[in-house]
Amino acid sequence: MPVKSGQVRTQSRFQPDPDKINEEKEEKQKQQDETKKYIWKPKEGENKVRIVPYRHAKYNNSIIQVYFHYNVGTQSVMCPKYNVGKKCPICDYIEDKLSVRVPRDEYFLLTRIRAKKRYFSPLVDRAEEDPTVRFWGYPERVYDQLEAYSRDPDYKTMFYPLNGRDITVTYAPPSENAKKDGNWGSTQLVPRGKETELFTGKTIDEIDDFLEANVPNLLNLGLFQILEYEVIENIFNRFMEGEDESDAEKGGNKENSKEETRGERAVEKKKVDGDNIESDVKNDTGSSKEEDFEKDFENLFESGEDE
Ligand SMILES: [Zn+2]
Repeated sequence: MPVKSGQVRTQSRFQPDPDKINEEKEEKQKQQDETKKYIWKPKEGENKVRIVPYRHAKYNNSIIQVYFHYNVGTQSVMCPKYNVGKKCPICDYIEDKLSVRVPRDEYFLLTRIRAKKRYFSPLVDRAEEDPTVRFWGYPERVYDQLEAYSRDPDYKTMFYPLNGRDITVTYAPPSENAKKDGNWGSTQLVPRGKETELFTGKTIDEIDDFLEANVPNLLNLGLFQILEYEVIENIFNRFMEGEDESDAEKGGNKENSKEETRGERAVEKKKVDGDNIESDVKNDTGSSKEEDFEKDFENLFESGEDE
């Protein structure tokens, strides 16, 4: 029965179809479960792992850098610009805003939504009887250790399948009161003294076949997707429409003053650099707060259905 729009008491801008929503939820859940199978996290204490080459990058590199826009509504968005060099509506927005001096609170928002770098490495957990390749997503402090080892001539073959090294990852989780006591936990990496093969008793070809068949392409894992420009634009517009309210809530955040100072400085720098926003963003993303990392990473796999 057709109804006149004036008679309908609308609770939202669109009327969702409950069946369709459930279907989509289930589909999303399935996708998330599937993706989670490929995620590795250290357990508390000692973990023994072997990082392997990632075969789907331009360079056969074991350390993959992925740029995300976090905090843009109910989902994290992979940045097309910094990941694959395509146009990104969120970066366009930030760039446009930064072409003139912006007020502090606006700069706070821009720093929250700018593209942030995350690191992933494919690895095999030595504790698993039946080895599978999974991805470890880790923060800057872990990246720094891996990067230092891979520059060291003695360790530079560390990720190689034939003469690489296992790594002992000693992990202490953050305390429950981390925000108060400042104990954000720690992750220490120590490569094994001896070079070993990825699998003993296997031929080079067999190891190669294993890697070929078992190292997934991150972009094929469902949630690690570069969305179309228009799709990101829609997500971003919806987020910006509701931003006034959420910003008021977050206004009291104690991080504000720090962010503001940094923001001011970056704006000054921006003026000097002209259009070179890339250097700003890269410098800033490099120093992302590691306490946010776990949450950010979890957010990648959240459906966002609370909103
Ligand atoms: Zn972007």
